[in-house]
Amino acid sequence: MSSHFIKESDFAAFLAGLIKEKKVVGPVAKTSRQQEKFVFAQLERGEDLRLDYDVTILPPKKEFFPTQQDLVRFDGPRREGCVTPEEKVLFGVHFYDVKALDMTDLLFQERNDDRNYTARREAATVVISNIQKVSPRAFWSSIGAEIQPQGHDAWLSRIAGGYVLEPRTPKGAALLRFGKFATATPAQIAAARQANDAVAAQCPERLQGTSESNARKVRAAFGQEELWTKLAEDCFSCGSCNTVCPTCYCFDVQDWWNVDQKSGARTRYWDSCLTEDFAKISLGAGATENFRESRGERFRHRFMRKAAYLNEKLGGPACVGCGRCSAACTADIADPTAVINNIPEA
Ligand code: SF4
Ligand code: SF4
Repeated sequence: MSSHFIKESDFAAFLAGLIKEKKVVGPVAKTSRQQEKFVFAQLERGEDLRLDYDVTILPPKKEFFPTQQDLVRFDGPRREGCVTPEEKVLFGVHFYDVKALDMTDLLFQERNDDRNYTARREAATVVISNIQKVSPRAFWSSIGAEIQPQGHDAWLSRIAGGYVLEPRTPKGAALLRFGKFATATPAQIAAARQANDAVAAQCPERLQGTSESNARKVRAAFGQEELWTKLAEDCFSCGSCNTVCPTCYCFDVQDWWNVDQKSGARTRYWDSCLTEDFAKISLGAGATENFRESRGERFRHRFMRKAAYLNEKLGGPACVGCGRCSAACTADIADPTAVINNIPEA
């Protein structure tokens, strides 16, 4: 599909037109204690959109896999599914978060199609925007670099004087009618490419080795109990590293009843493999078993999942290098570059 250019001076009108007709979710600032952080939220006004964000607190997967989601509602013998597709434009997603969406797309469809997820995903239009500011813990340029993002409908790049929009699907091309776009010149297309390429060199952290060599050495380190115990020494088992991760997809399912004791819902909630109870199971008669009881076992499990176990299925690591876990960990022990780079080759 051909590329299109919109002048900076016409961009506000484009956004206003889009917001008037569609639900648009994008990065906005959330300021507290003099710190500026960013979240994906519904845009009421185009001025709130902050395409110069570095990284959002939570990844955009929450738009398709909410932190809490009813799966089935029931009332006596009556049951109704809760598939709730909602048309929306997810505007201004960084490419690494789209790579993470590609993973969740695959994982939520590989055996049974999880319609609570996929229906929302299909109803959305996803627009990537180029990274204008790199987050302090990012390492996306050195992880899974061989894997390109797939699940987006258009790619927007800021260049001098305006933006280049490259539609990738008919849904992406349908956005053109909202703004005064002209066919992009070869120079504008080259400038867009340059804007995306140049930023990779600014990633402050770096994962050494290849996806394959890291998968091999992390897996080979499985039996080094002392190593994992030491690495997890300061872990609070808080689960923050899982909660902020765009590729984590575990959930817990619970049934709850209204006071009538007849009606209620089956709801899923984000879960976290670093928390103490994640792997605790009932053996009946009040007995329980926890098959990852120690912090070291849970810590190791997270790294096995990120660097080794899922590689075959996903074609690369289950980590996109966003650096959210590094920033969210109070003990500062969750950073994949710090952990994986320091595991010696087998
Ligand atoms: S493991 Fe950390 S760096 Fe990797 S995708 Fe998850 S939050 Fe981002
Ligand atoms: S590694 Fe850090 S963020 Fe993750 S559970 Fe432990 S303390 Fe919490």
